[in-house]
Formats: sequence, structure tokens, C-alpha cells
Amino acid sequence: MNIILFGPPGAGKGTQAKYLVDKLNGFQISTGDILRKEIQKNSEIGKLIFNDMKNGKFVNDEIVNKLIKEIIFNPSLKDKLIFDGYPRSISQAKNLDLLLDKSNQQIDFIFFLNVDKETILKRIKKRKIIEKRSDDELDTIIKRYDTYMETTKPVLNFYSKNPKYNEIDGTLKIEEITAKIDAFLNV
Ligand code: AMP
Repeated sequence: MNIILFGPPGAGKGTQAKYLVDKLNGFQISTGDILRKEIQKNSEIGKLIFNDMKNGKFVNDEIVNKLIKEIIFNPSLKDKLIFDGYPRSISQAKNLDLLLDKSNQQIDFIFFLNVDKETILKRIKKRKIIEKRSDDELDTIIKRYDTYMETTKPVLNFYSKNPKYNEIDGTLKIEEITAKIDAFLNV
């Protein structure tokens, strides 16, 4: 089963992705984590990624698309893909369609965790303290939210017409969101 989790930063995509990985023996594709790993390599690409992340901007589509291609084509991960933070732009959504098509796969569910800005700011401030994430400084948080609204909203509008799309109230408790996801999956 291949699933896309959508939602602004701090919506709880990562938490639900981990739940789905356990439940479905899936593989979490968190582009945020993949990009943070690339930064740790201290490569030229890593430096570019670091600057974009620090400024709350999206990392270049070409870089992100290249990084996920290998995963999608990995035969041992076929039909086990849990997308967390990808796609975030129309270009990425089109790229994903293409890669899935070429690897003979499809998306089974699209979940949008809908959370208001106030709740997100509160959650990310808390996460900053726990995880000490450099991209979570307060003004970066605001920029990340605004970037999300600007760039990801069109992707959301695009997917919302898909019969596999489901919206879930992301302000609910973790277990309540999980229960809603379970009800949709029906497995
Ligand atoms: P996340 O951990 O998903 O909140 O992502 C942290 C940061 O990584 C974002 O604010 C972006 O700068 C970058 N990022 C993560 N996923 C993507 C993506 N699919 N496209 C572009 N940039 C991304």
C-alpha cells in the first residue's frame, strides 16, 4: 500500500507515518529527514540544502526529486511507500506520478492532516525544545508555514479532487487521528 501524508509542518505527519510503517510493514519517505542526512554529509549539495532549510525555503525540486527516485525504484520497497513531506509542489506531484507509473505503482490513500496556524506554532515551539532542530527557530517557523500555504496549497487543491483523498482534523489527539486513519484503511 502506498500512502501520502499531507499537512503543514507540525501537523503530525511524522508521527502517523511511523504508525503506518509499523502497521503496514511500510517504509517512511520523509524528505525532511533525507535532506537533513544530506546536510550531515557536508557535501556541496548539503550546503545548498542547509541554506534553504535555514531560511524556511523549500529545497530545489531537482535535488529532492533525485533523492527520492532511488527509493521509489527500490524493488524491496515496492508498494510499501509512506510519503511524509513529499510532494510539496505541483512539480513534485507530477514527478511522483511519473515515477510511480514507471515503477508500476499507484497511490492508495492521500491523507490531509488539517491544522490551523496557531496550533502548529505551539507544537513546533515545543518540538524545538525537545529536538533542538536548527530549522525550527521562530521566524523560520512562520516562513515555513507561509511557504507551505503558498506552494503546497495548489498541490492540495490538485489532490483534493482525487477519490483517494481524505481530510482529517489534525488538531485531534494522536490516537484519535490514528483511529480515523485506521477506519479509512479498513485493514
Ligand atoms: P520537514 O522535516 O518535513 O518539516 O522539512 C523540513 C524542511 O526541509 C522544509 O522546511 C524544507 O526546507 C525542506 N523540505 C522537506 N521536504 C521537502 C520537499 N519535499 N521539497 C522541498 N523542500 C523540502
